[in-house]
Amino acid sequence: MDKMMNEYRADFPILKQKVNDEQLVYLDNAATTQKPQAVIAAIKHYYESDNANVHRGVHTLAERATEQYEAVRSKAARLLGVDDPHEIVYTKGTTEALNWVAASYGSTHLQPGDEIVLSYMEHHSNIVPWQNLAAKTGAKLKYIGLTENGQLDMVEAQKVITDKTAIVSLCQASNVLGVVNPIQEIAALAHHHGAIMVVDGAQAVPHMKVDVRELGADFYALSGHKMMGPTGIGVLWGKKELLAQMPPLEFGGEMINNVGLYQTDFKEPPYKFEGGTQNIAGVVGLGAAIDYLNSVGPDKIAEHEHHLVADLFPKLQAIPGITIYGPQDPKLRTGVLSFNLAGVHPHDLASALDMDGVAVRAGHHCAQPLMEYLGVSATARASFYLYNTKEDTDALVNAILDAKEFFL
Ligand code: PLP
Repeated sequence: MDKMMNEYRADFPILKQKVNDEQLVYLDNAATTQKPQAVIAAIKHYYESDNANVHRGVHTLAERATEQYEAVRSKAARLLGVDDPHEIVYTKGTTEALNWVAASYGSTHLQPGDEIVLSYMEHHSNIVPWQNLAAKTGAKLKYIGLTENGQLDMVEAQKVITDKTAIVSLCQASNVLGVVNPIQEIAALAHHHGAIMVVDGAQAVPHMKVDVRELGADFYALSGHKMMGPTGIGVLWGKKELLAQMPPLEFGGEMINNVGLYQTDFKEPPYKFEGGTQNIAGVVGLGAAIDYLNSVGPDKIAEHEHHLVADLFPKLQAIPGITIYGPQDPKLRTGVLSFNLAGVHPHDLASALDMDGVAVRAGHHCAQPLMEYLGVSATARASFYLYNTKEDTDALVNAILDAKEFFL
């Protein structure tokens, strides 16, 4: 299997370089992923051949640009397991998508005393917009804790989600712990109590098959750059009936049917949310990324990442002083692995690994409440994608051993 997966690596020009005289080993995929030649070529081709503003012109280039822009909407819908492209709203990314749900749906549906339920493992993007909403509406925030194994505590979830809950918003996959949350069960619980289910899919869609209807989601957010697409483009999927109830947040050109001096008639979703000229080249790049993702296959990507983590896990555990956060059973994990080496600050560790060409992240990973819960200020994090190999996991282990010798 590895051999076949190894072939995809050649599609990513950036991976061919050396860093600090060593072959680059890119293990910072939870932060952002590298782009295959097909995505780079699609953006270049768009600017060289088709660039025009969408929905505005009748000339050939405008028609071509519009056709591509709308075709990607259908691709994104299919990627998430739905048919209706009008349920796909283009955003800058997951952060903007979650902000829109909070600011538009939340501010028009929540009353003082309503509750918003999150978990300890959320990214700041899935905490701060809800804090802001709570402050504006008088709603209360509640959190589901974690089990000792670093999984969502489902016993606690049953207690925290009640008839007072209006919104439950959780990540499908954690960007720190490498766990996948039982969204289907939580969504059923949320719906039983009359709440809606919002899902942060930033770390899920790039790595596994997702069907938003099967999950029971009402809203689902994703970022293009975490799935081989360009930065600055993402998607908010929402049920049509919910999108229809939501007021737009940005007002201007493109999102209107008719403007009078004192009154404006807005378009139907998703267009009423896409005011002004959008990131058209980004959308084209996202479309190429979806094609590439589908050509590999989400199940195959998930299996490959499981293999890599299963291979790496015991090797890391065998290094004295290493603490791995999250489930200690590699079968329960995605390709995200956060760890610390006793006596070495994660930033120093990451700098030392960089000297060996190994790129990992160090810090709080935009999850400060989780860091506090884990009792650390920061961790190192290696995160894998379809182009990583067993050689990469070995390079990581060797680089950690080098660092250990250097620092300790
Ligand atoms: N949610 C999770 C779980 C993430 O890992 C990230 C990014 O790291 C985000 C949300 C925010 O994504 P973006 O910065 O692309 O909006």
